[in-house]
Amino acid sequence: MVLDKPFEVAIIGGGIAGLTLAIALYYRRVPVTVYEQASQFGEIGAGVSFSGNAIQAMKICHQGVYEAFEKVCTRNVWPSKQNVWFDFLDALADAPTSAFTISTDVGQNGVHRARFLDEIVKLVPKEIARFGKRFEHVKEGPNGRLVMSFEDGTTAEADAVVGCDGIKSRVRQVIVGSDHPSARPAYTHKYAYRGLVPMEQAIEAIGEEKALNSCMHMGPDGHLLTFPVNHGKTLNIVAFRTTSDDWPDFNRLTKQVKREDALRDFAGYGPDVTKLLQLTSPDLSVWAIFDTGDHPVPTFSKGRVCISGDAAHATSPHHGAGAGFCIEDSAVLAELLADERVQSKQDIEAVFATFNDQRKERGQWLVQSSRWIGDCYEWRAPGIGRDFAKIEQEIKTRSDIISNVNVPDMCEQAKQGLSTRLAA
Ligand SMILES: Cc1cc2nc3c(=O)[nH]c(=O)nc-3n(C[C@H](O)[C@H](O)[C@H](O)COP(=O)(O)OP(=O)(O)OC[C@H]3O[C@@H](n4cnc5c(N)ncnc54)[C@H](O)[C@@H]3O)c2cc1C
Repeated sequence: MVLDKPFEVAIIGGGIAGLTLAIALYYRRVPVTVYEQASQFGEIGAGVSFSGNAIQAMKICHQGVYEAFEKVCTRNVWPSKQNVWFDFLDALADAPTSAFTISTDVGQNGVHRARFLDEIVKLVPKEIARFGKRFEHVKEGPNGRLVMSFEDGTTAEADAVVGCDGIKSRVRQVIVGSDHPSARPAYTHKYAYRGLVPMEQAIEAIGEEKALNSCMHMGPDGHLLTFPVNHGKTLNIVAFRTTSDDWPDFNRLTKQVKREDALRDFAGYGPDVTKLLQLTSPDLSVWAIFDTGDHPVPTFSKGRVCISGDAAHATSPHHGAGAGFCIEDSAVLAELLADERVQSKQDIEAVFATFNDQRKERGQWLVQSSRWIGDCYEWRAPGIGRDFAKIEQEIKTRSDIISNVNVPDMCEQAKQGLSTRLAA
């Protein structure tokens, strides 16, 4: 393929943000290299779901990203539930029925993370990926190019650096300074048990309707959500709990626990929650939910270095929208970098400043809104409590802000912002 931009973009990190951006740039003929610390691209074996905005953004990045998603995505199994995002249930009830239902234009779209990533990796040419490259620093070299240094002692040059290196982003630290409060994410005092269980067992335990279609079991200081993945063969379970305790080790955001720990945490909940937890493995992973909400980053960019995805706005997962926002970031950034007016170093700076103008408010809103809505599910939100009508209204209003957007218009607006920046 002939590459026709006179600059090269380095992407640090090959998760959903980094790979969707790499694909979007490569197929727009922008020279790009991905530096990933691991020995290969990979994701964990848990579920992730996408709302309508994310699906629009996939199509802008590259049609192949959308096709990969369609290939692995699983919707609610019942035809009558195709538009249901979640049925919300009272987790304390003995025989819970839906308290209310939130529907959207695309309903629930669960994918197995590792399978989705494996599919999009097929769109990434081998020659643009470098593995075992843990980014440490970047500075401008004597020739005006950016020189990145890696933990293995090697260096590489590029004209622009995009940090897609996730919640503990090193690139964020380079932008804001290691001592700045936003350099590190904070514990939200929620943790989550995650499990994938065979669908036949889930049906046997809680019945067809609740196993084959997405459900959110709400309770005091905890909630458990389920949705089908793997074309309905597997049920994804995530059980969240709020705690006043601190997380013991910032360097390890997951720890191994026993199923009994989860059952103890949800003692007193109704039979559905207990039965679902009993289906999980005897040895479970528990995930600390950190985010960038206590200290939002003051800027997503500095010169020709910027951050995107969780590196810029790591959110708790309660809106199920963090990865979708990563893909929105990729769509906007790729459209800006590929713009034909963007040729020089100054133009790249203008692109990154525009990206900051366009994406910061929305990304940081998601982080705060997700905290709030997670508390609504757990009857903890001040003024909302266990009032189901109010919880429903909160979810509807906020889901609308997330999904009811026009991503092509968003990109167009970013280009208009770029015009202003380029003219300045
Ligand atoms: C429990 C849970 C459930 C979730 N559910 C959903 C959901 O249903 N829907 C949704 O949209 N979102 C969901 N999210 C959020 C979503 O998972 C994230 O927003 C998204 O995966 C972040 O992608 P990323 O590429 O920015 O970061 P990551 O996936 O963290 O990728 C970062 C990459 O950078 C690499 N890296 C890190 N540091 C360096 C370095 N110094 N040098 C080189 N490489 C580096 C890492 O190895 C990794 O490959 C959930 C999150 C959690 C915790």
